[in-house]
Amino acid sequence: MDAYRIRSEPYYQRTGDEIALFEAAYAKRLPLLLKGPTGCGKTRFVEHMAWRLGRPLVTVACHDELSAADLVGRWLIDAEGTRWQDGPLALAARHGAICYLDELVEARADTTVVIHPLADTRRLLPLAARNELLAAHPDFALVVSYNPGPLARELKPSTRQRFCALEFHYPAPEMEAAIVAREAGVPLDVAAGIVAFGVRTRRLQGHGLDDGASTRMLVQAALLAAQGIAPRRACRMAVADALSDDPGVHEALVAALDASW
Ligand code: ADP
Repeated sequence: MDAYRIRSEPYYQRTGDEIALFEAAYAKRLPLLLKGPTGCGKTRFVEHMAWRLGRPLVTVACHDELSAADLVGRWLIDAEGTRWQDGPLALAARHGAICYLDELVEARADTTVVIHPLADTRRLLPLAARNELLAAHPDFALVVSYNPGPLARELKPSTRQRFCALEFHYPAPEMEAAIVAREAGVPLDVAAGIVAFGVRTRRLQGHGLDDGASTRMLVQAALLAAQGIAPRRACRMAVADALSDDPGVHEALVAALDASW
């Protein structure tokens, strides 16, 4: 588990009462669902909380090929014969880590079912291939993220029912500028200009864009600016050209650039 410990404080700017709410949920080992658009700080928040609570963190980026066996574990054959290898979820449950399943809905349906007995008062993980019913370590906690939206897959009601939810949004502009400045090491006024452009792109959401620029994208633009690239050019590269290939949307993004510089 040592490899999963977070040694130094991950920088996280609180935006409300999310730290206290996470701590309260963790104290009762309630499973948590973090809802919010991509790149708005959910992963950073979990890293920060794992560090704050002194728990190792096992993170899994879910994708449509991710199976229950990938999470739970499998038998491996090597020179010595067969041996069991815990998957990340079993590892976290056995040793008392926080397990963060990023974008859980992306995973195959059988995957969400294996977390059910772990995400209610039973706190059990069946390792069917091994004939073991793993009782979760008392320090184990489950956190999943989900990016709701018109094109997003829905979480099954039976899965939702097991979680408390924390909603995330992009931080307010002044706070987002402070985050971008700190993450990229650029002056606050440069970060504020990049964020103002980001805010404009978010207004295009629903007009051909699923999401506008995420905080992650704005940090990337600021990192280019820190390399001496003019902020407008940096935003074109990190945001406008990256976000959409649709000519109409791209034109609107360039217009947002024009309005910002
Ligand atoms: P998500 O998990 O929601 O997709 P991340 O947690 O990876 O997004 O956030 C993307 C980036 O945005 C982070 O790497 C960090 O640079 C920045 N970020 C967003 N919100 C915050 C915040 N509140 N405090 C610190 N950094 C943040």
